[in-house]
Amino acid sequence: MTEVLLATRNKGKVKEFQSLLDGLGLTFRTLDDFPNTAEVREDGTSFEANAIKKASEYSKATGMIAIADDSGLVVDALDGGPGVYSSRYAGDAADDDDNNEKLILAMKGFPKGRRGAAFVCVVAAARPDGSTITSEGRCEGEIISSKKGGGGFGYDPLFYIPGFGCTMAELASDKKNEISHRGKAVKKFKDRFLDFSGSP
Ligand code: IMP
Repeated sequence: MTEVLLATRNKGKVKEFQSLLDGLGLTFRTLDDFPNTAEVREDGTSFEANAIKKASEYSKATGMIAIADDSGLVVDALDGGPGVYSSRYAGDAADDDDNNEKLILAMKGFPKGRRGAAFVCVVAAARPDGSTITSEGRCEGEIISSKKGGGGFGYDPLFYIPGFGCTMAELASDKKNEISHRGKAVKKFKDRFLDFSGSP
């Protein structure tokens, strides 16, 4: 049975990855099993660069195949921002509310037709020999002018999905997993991961 490192300490992400990669006959470890491993800095200029950096460095540090992801919000009217800075858009100590307030202000004055945005996620796997694979998932939507819905996290209450007529924060979590950037990226990733990891 192949043992794989899920390179995160976020328990929500661990759960999500475990359920999305279910059925591949893998056993999972997480960064909590390696408390002395130094944190990898997410200083890349793209989601792909950050995901590859995290997977590669944690794979080298632990000697295991490692899986990592990076995700965020890209807004057309903000030239792709906040992008890789999504989690610290309103500053290093910012929480979701601070980031959402800053986004509401930044989008003030943009009419309905100029509020296009997407959530993007890149999932990467790396082997200790340095080889990597990546998959990207996108979910298209629009930024609304005030928060709606109590589910999800991050920018979900401001992210309206025209096809569903509601925000990401108003979707049930299984529905969100189905259509989200992360769900789509992991689905594509799953198809290629067995070959990469050398599992039977
Ligand atoms: P990371 O992939 O955990 O580094 O995510 C970076 C940031 O992007 C998060 O802190 C959120 O602000 C935003 N983000 C990523 N995925 C989502 C999502 O599914 N909903 C809302 N915000 C998200």
